[in-house]
Amino acid sequence: MKMTTNWSAPIVWHGTYNEVVLEDYYASHKITVGLTVFSVGRYTDHYLHTFLSSADRFFMVGQKVIIYVLIDDFFKMPWLELSPLRSIKIFEIRREKRWQDISMMRMKTISEHIVDHIQYEVDFLFCMDVDQIFVSNYGLETLGESVAQLHAYWYKASPTEVPYERRQLSEAYIPIGEGDFYYHAAVFGGTPIQVLNIARECFKGILNDKKNNIEAVWHDESHLNKYFFLHKPTKLLSPEYCWDRFKYSDHEIHNVKVSWAIKNYEYFRKAV
Ligand code: UDP
Ligand code: MN
Repeated sequence: MKMTTNWSAPIVWHGTYNEVVLEDYYASHKITVGLTVFSVGRYTDHYLHTFLSSADRFFMVGQKVIIYVLIDDFFKMPWLELSPLRSIKIFEIRREKRWQDISMMRMKTISEHIVDHIQYEVDFLFCMDVDQIFVSNYGLETLGESVAQLHAYWYKASPTEVPYERRQLSEAYIPIGEGDFYYHAAVFGGTPIQVLNIARECFKGILNDKKNNIEAVWHDESHLNKYFFLHKPTKLLSPEYCWDRFKYSDHEIHNVKVSWAIKNYEYFRKAV
């Protein structure tokens, strides 16, 4: 179980932080934490309510939170009663045709919203997939300048084995033998300015790839991995923070914070 990277960034595992100390510190340094989530097409009916109600219960308990929901159909926004200190802002977005584009265009939309308003509203921001559920406290220990999530399937693998983009033509290219970790695009975060850099750079890479008629093997995730290869994250989250409970169990994983939801890919990715 690795607890720091070779550039001295902490890898946060359950038990490596002291909640009381963190809470004391933030009691006198008031912050607001933002959370963006995109929900398009069938994902709204199946995942959005569970994601939001579990976030209400477990995400940054006791802190001020703004959840930004980016949805393609206002009328499908689920009703939900939030706990104190929490609010939701809802924005309607255009629906892309291909699921790959829905996923990749998030980078553009996130950038625009940070510039327009999020940067003035929050001190830290997380961007997450909707197809997951908070299952225990996801707290102050996760905050940092730029935060990356270790991918549950690859955290023990060496960089030569992970599915980075390997074609030189793509902006997401990482040469064999290089790279640090394989990060999961389902979660990334940091200060709004850092998240803006991440999202902008990834979107630039995505656009250049489109110009060159190439699409990175894991879409926005490949570009995110390239970004964090070039600009090392200041904090990494252990796979407890985004775990696939249905795939396999692992003796190192004791305290899951976010769990992947069940997914039937064929059903969800069909154009409606
Ligand atoms: N998404 C969506 N509708 C779609 C495809 C994607 O709302 O039809 C959003 C949603 O937030 C989802 C994220 O984009 O969690 C990334 O897509 P997905 O979760 O399917 O990617 P995976 O986790 O399977 O790589
Ligand atoms: Mn997902």
